[in-house]
Amino acid sequence: MTVISENKYISPNSVEQAVSAAVEHKGSYRYIAGGTDVMVNKFQGNDTADLLIDLTGIQGLKEILKTDTHIIIGALTTLEELQNQQLLATHFPMLPEAAKSVASPTIRKSATLGGNLLCENRCIFYNQSEWWREAAGRCLKCNGDICLASGGNKYCYSKFVSDIAVVLISLNAEIEIINEHETSVIPLETIYSGDGINPVLLPKTSIIKSIYIPLIDGNRSAFKKLRKRETLDFTSLTTSLTIKNSGSVRIVLGGAHAKPVIVDGSVEDDLEVLFSQVVSNTRIIENDTYSRSYRKDMIRVFLKRSFVELNSKSPYSITGSNEPQK
Ligand SMILES: Cc1cc2nc3c(=O)[nH]c(=O)nc-3n(C[C@H](O)[C@H](O)[C@H](O)COP(=O)(O)OP(=O)(O)OC[C@H]3O[C@@H](n4cnc5c(N)ncnc54)[C@H](O)[C@@H]3O)c2cc1C
Repeated sequence: MTVISENKYISPNSVEQAVSAAVEHKGSYRYIAGGTDVMVNKFQGNDTADLLIDLTGIQGLKEILKTDTHIIIGALTTLEELQNQQLLATHFPMLPEAAKSVASPTIRKSATLGGNLLCENRCIFYNQSEWWREAAGRCLKCNGDICLASGGNKYCYSKFVSDIAVVLISLNAEIEIINEHETSVIPLETIYSGDGINPVLLPKTSIIKSIYIPLIDGNRSAFKKLRKRETLDFTSLTTSLTIKNSGSVRIVLGGAHAKPVIVDGSVEDDLEVLFSQVVSNTRIIENDTYSRSYRKDMIRVFLKRSFVELNSKSPYSITGSNEPQK
């Protein structure tokens, strides 16, 4: 294990070494992979951990495998690798498409899959410099008393922004996690709390080792993302729709709550009822450069387009004059 400076940065060679270091330094460490989220949060004073445990030297987190039932992707796989993986393009074309939509080419060279699943929730009142936040008055997510975005609520609905998680959940992916107590494989969606202050439920020492995506013939998926610029910007709304061969439907949203919004249905369902259920499960507040009402309107637009794209039934015209533009 490389130790660059006592209590500042260590670079373990195995998951076991990394977890032991975390157990030893409980409370004041942060795992780091590509660092594209951690380091920004550190520079903005939103992450004060004094020890960084670098996972990038752990070979066992880098493999991509295909078995009879799953594709298994190591957590250290970069988004650039996801974007260029022929195996994934063949089986889950929505995944490289989503990877390509994240950040910029330079960031995707370092950014990893594991880091993407655990990147911090965002809000225009939180992702600011320290002096900005001090001047505006601190919000709930940085030790203030009220949510500034909602004008005084006591609950934080900072946005869940991982685009890859949205896609993986719609494909029913699971993750393998390792901590000092256990190794387990759990559905990805179960790790998100819905609490914008502490959005991840995993025990803090947990390391994501791999992501398991089930191989099921005949699934069709569509991915849509709303943002002002086609590069660099985080999502204002992400939708992912998977229609399975069996006729079941899974809709997952990002950027619309402090956790992914998930609605399961069937192609037989009345789509208007299904879309209403999706919208009513969201908690969109004024914490983005797009307005709350526009983001809400775009949910139906994206879902209608996705159903049309997948050649499924759609009772709607998608070119109606009152449709929000994108
Ligand atoms: C300008 C910019 C634009 C961006 N745009 C988008 C976007 O459009 N969509 C999007 O989804 N994201 C976006 N991101 C967010 C982020 O960079 C990516 O999600 C990236 O994939 C994070 O990966 P990383 O390896 O750099 O994570 P890191 O910064 O290293 O880590 C992020 C978090 O994950 C934890 N972690 C990392 N790996 C593991 C592991 N294996 N096990 C346990 N914990 C782990 C870290 O402790 C930390 O809490 C953007 C970032 C920037 C700077």
